[in-house]
Amino acid sequence: MIYNEKQTYAELFRQGCEELRAAGVGEADTDARLLLEWCLGTDRNTLLAHGDRGVSREEYDRYADAVGRRRARVPLQYITGEQDFMGLTFVVNEKVLIPRQDTEVLAEEVLRHLHDGMRILDMCTGSGCILFSLLRYSNGCTGVGVDVSEEALSVARANAERILGAQALDSMRVTLRQGDLFTGMDESDRFDIIVSNPPYIKTSVIESLMPEVREHEPRTALDGHEDGLFFYRQIIGQAGRFLQGGGMLFLEIGYDQGESVRLLMEEAGYREIEVIRDYAGLDRVVCGGKYV
Ligand code: GLN
Repeated sequence: MIYNEKQTYAELFRQGCEELRAAGVGEADTDARLLLEWCLGTDRNTLLAHGDRGVSREEYDRYADAVGRRRARVPLQYITGEQDFMGLTFVVNEKVLIPRQDTEVLAEEVLRHLHDGMRILDMCTGSGCILFSLLRYSNGCTGVGVDVSEEALSVARANAERILGAQALDSMRVTLRQGDLFTGMDESDRFDIIVSNPPYIKTSVIESLMPEVREHEPRTALDGHEDGLFFYRQIIGQAGRFLQGGGMLFLEIGYDQGESVRLLMEEAGYREIEVIRDYAGLDRVVCGGKYV
C-alpha cells in the first residue's frame, strides 16, 4: 500500500480490498472493511457516509499494518483481538482457539439441561467461551475451567472478568486451573455437567487446513492425534469419576466422529446417549448421562 496525503477513507478501503483479494483471502472485502473500522474506530455508516474524508498518516500506518498481517493470513480475530460467541464478546490471541459458531450448538445443548446452582467443568477451556457463556446465562452456577496451557488460561482470566465481572474469580464462581486433562483435579470435586470441545482433528489432516488455522491457531488446540479420538478416549474414560450420579457429559465432535464417540460413551456405560446435529445438518455434539 502507498500513502498519499490526499487519500480518503474510500480509497484506503479500495486498496485494502485489492491487497487482500490478491493474497487469496476468502472474504477479502468484508475483512478490509472490518479492519478499516477497527483501525479508525468507526462503524460501517461512518465509512459509507464520509468516504471522502481525509486519512491521517497515523491512520494509514495502522491500516497498512493490519492489512499486512491479514495478507500473511493472520485470522481477523487475532488482529482485532476479539470474537463474538453466544452474543458475548471474548478477547482472543494466538494462544487460544478462536471461538466457533459451531461450538454455540454445544453451549446451547448444555443450556437446555442446565439448572440454577449446578456445578460445571469445562475441560480444555481455551478462551473460556463455553464456560463463561454458560455461567452468564444461568443463575448461581459455579464452574471450573481446565487447560494445559498457562498462556491460554491468562486469556481465559481476562474473559472471566470481562464476561462475569471482576469478582468472578475471587468469589470462586469460576476457578481456572492448569492441568493435563484430569491430572491435578481435586479428586473429591463432583460436577453436574462436564463439557468439552477438545482438540479433535487428525494429525494428518492439519496440513490441509486453511493457512489461518494451520499456521496461526494453536496446534495443541487442534490436534486430536493419529485418529482424532485421543482426547475423547481420555475424557470419556475419566469424566465419570468427577460426575454426580445422573450428571451429564457433553462433547463437541467433528462431522464424521458421531458414531465413534457414541460407541466410546456406550462402552463407558453412559445412558441416553444422543448425537446432535448443527445447523448445517452435520453431527456436532454427543451427550449422555452417567449411569447411577
Ligand atoms: N473450549 C474452547 C473453545 O471451544 C477451546 C477448545 C480447544 O482449544 N480445542 O473454543
